[in-house]
Amino acid sequence: KMNTDIGQHILKNPGVATAIVDKALLKQSDTVLEVGPGTGNLTVKLLEKAKRVIAIEQDPRMAAELTKRVQGTAMQARLELLLGDVIKLPLPYFDVCVSNTPYQISSPLTFKLLATQPAPRAAVLMLQREFAMRLFAKPGEKLYSRLSVNVQMWAKVEHVMKVGRKNFSPPPLVESSVVRVVPKVPRPKIGYEEWDGLLRVCFVRKNKTLRADFLGTSSVMDMLEANYRTWCAQNDIPVDDGPAEDGVGEGVEMEVEVDAVEDEDEWEGIMDVDEEDDLPDFFKEERDKQMKQKNKSNPQRKKRGKVAELVREKVRRVLEDETQLADKRARMCDEGDFLKLLYEFNQVGIHFS
Ligand code: SAM
Repeated sequence: KMNTDIGQHILKNPGVATAIVDKALLKQSDTVLEVGPGTGNLTVKLLEKAKRVIAIEQDPRMAAELTKRVQGTAMQARLELLLGDVIKLPLPYFDVCVSNTPYQISSPLTFKLLATQPAPRAAVLMLQREFAMRLFAKPGEKLYSRLSVNVQMWAKVEHVMKVGRKNFSPPPLVESSVVRVVPKVPRPKIGYEEWDGLLRVCFVRKNKTLRADFLGTSSVMDMLEANYRTWCAQNDIPVDDGPAEDGVGEGVEMEVEVDAVEDEDEWEGIMDVDEEDDLPDFFKEERDKQMKQKNKSNPQRKKRGKVAELVREKVRRVLEDETQLADKRARMCDEGDFLKLLYEFNQVGIHFS
């Protein structure tokens, strides 16, 4: 009995299995990592082409099935079967990864593979169609999202083929696609946490201007201020903790340039965009705060300190002067825009992690 909760959909079309293995462009000397071998339809084809296959399978019944399948054959000695959750296990060395991926782990698996060092030559992955399309979406396209920018920073992604539901048993609810992910070598010299941190801010509302995402979102400004203080402390830069200049921020209502979030639907729409990524807490808090404010006739007044003013001014200058991206929306920004933003922010001590 299949357990579809952990993505057990066996590929029953041998033609598709052969095409996937062909796309891996294996060499006789390769060690292949296979994630979720199931009953081994891909595994036996991989063993024909490569020196060794290391397969990681979570379900002991599947693992037993596969063990039986290779037992007593010449393939047995070249297959290493690890029982466990691929997301939790440390990965062994491998040259190429092949997987008919359990869809629940698409996102963490993709990022785990991209963080692997030394980088594998390629990963050929069967993914849910929409997830696959997000991986290679370009600026302005509907599925362009944080995931697209993030993955394309570290890898080239190529669409290999569409695979209909009927090729699986039992058929999943959605269509699939095979993609080939080729990590960039050498790895771009940029910190993952900083890059992802910037993208989280820019994409929290991808249809809003970057000005609104930054200057109009108090939780973002609070986070940047906290990071700025940490950065100053690490670099022995004194901070002036007094209240803002006379009059500034003093009992004055914050000029919220935010395009206020109109309704709950919009937030739900945003959740759809990267639904596989948990929103960090400060965004959830911001959402709740904005929802609350919307229902209040008398918005909260808040005093701003000197550091907050300073950070605000730095951010404003980067957006409006240094990069001139203040009026652009994240969904239209390309990798170059985001790199420019990160560089200019870091130049003035603004950090995202
Ligand atoms: N490779 C087989 C095929 O193509 O017919 C089976 C693919 S099936 C879509 C996904 C397999 O991954 C299942 O056998 C499932 O038990 C296994 N699996 C699910 N979650 C896993 C995890 N976190 N780590 C390792 N294997 C997992």
